[in-house]
Amino acid sequence: MCSLSTLAISCPEHARLESEFQEARDRMCSFLSGSRRAADSRQRKLSRQQERRLADEMAMAIARLKEHIAAHGCKH
Ligand SMILES: [Zn+2]
Repeated sequence: MCSLSTLAISCPEHARLESEFQEARDRMCSFLSGSRRAADSRQRKLSRQQERRLADEMAMAIARLKEHIAAHGCKH
């Protein structure tokens, strides 16, 4: 049963928070790579708002993950 333990994250809550963070980061990355197409100023304004929202989501995911690590003491 221990053969996968070196790579697996042992705490399910930690794993969930980590995958939330990765999803937020992925959304941010794909947004940034797509946002260069925005040509007119209205679109650019919308994409700045969107970028800020995605950055907030990512920051919140990191904060939740750090909070969990601090409260729970799990490294992985
Ligand atoms: Zn944990």
